[in-house]
Amino acid sequence: MLRSMIVRGAERIVASSGELCALDRAIGDGDHGTNMKRGLEAVLAKAEEIVALPTGEALGAIGKTLVMTVGGASGPLYGSFFLAAGAAIGRGRRLPEDLADIIAAGVEAVGARGRSTAGEKTMLDVLVPVLDTLRAEAGRPDVAARVRATARQSTERTAPMLATKGRAAYLGPRSVGHIDPGARSSCLIVEAICDIWEERQ
Ligand code: ADP
Ligand code: MG
Repeated sequence: MLRSMIVRGAERIVASSGELCALDRAIGDGDHGTNMKRGLEAVLAKAEEIVALPTGEALGAIGKTLVMTVGGASGPLYGSFFLAAGAAIGRGRRLPEDLADIIAAGVEAVGARGRSTAGEKTMLDVLVPVLDTLRAEAGRPDVAARVRATARQSTERTAPMLATKGRAAYLGPRSVGHIDPGARSSCLIVEAICDIWEERQ
């Protein structure tokens, strides 16, 4: 399952590189798609090595790879997410029962690294609502569909937001009216994971 999620998520990001760059051209420097493509291609190249590891270490290896290869603000942020999620498993959290706590550790690490919270027009505006839905809907048979719907809606909801973190914050009010590229890449990863989750149910 981890292999399928890694491969599906990475392939989705690689295929959407153009769309992510276009979003970043509107409110940033246009490199989010190429940054993420570079990182996820590096993860794909190591996928067999990664999935052979215990799950916590596998997430840690993904995090390390993203930190080393993505570049841009998003590299250390996504890297921190996976490193912290992996560390939570290392401290004894288990899948699937502690999934929300494991994701929470990742989300917290992004906020700490980025000195950011939800509402600032970043990837956290998808990751935080996704975590909230995961907690609220845990145990329901359609939790994956609900998480996917939250990811999509929360991505759209970044458009009217004013950016106060990252490169888009330099635009001030001109950042309003555009979807945040990091919110969109988070949505793509969440969607891919939800697809696999549903297929395996
Ligand atoms: P850069 O901005 O260095 O060019 P990218 O284009 O790869 O890096 O990534 C930009 C994305 O990173 C933004 O769309 C936003 O979602 C996310 N981001 C930037 N700064 C922060 C932050 N402080 N906290 C959370 N996310 C951030
Ligand atoms: Mg950029």
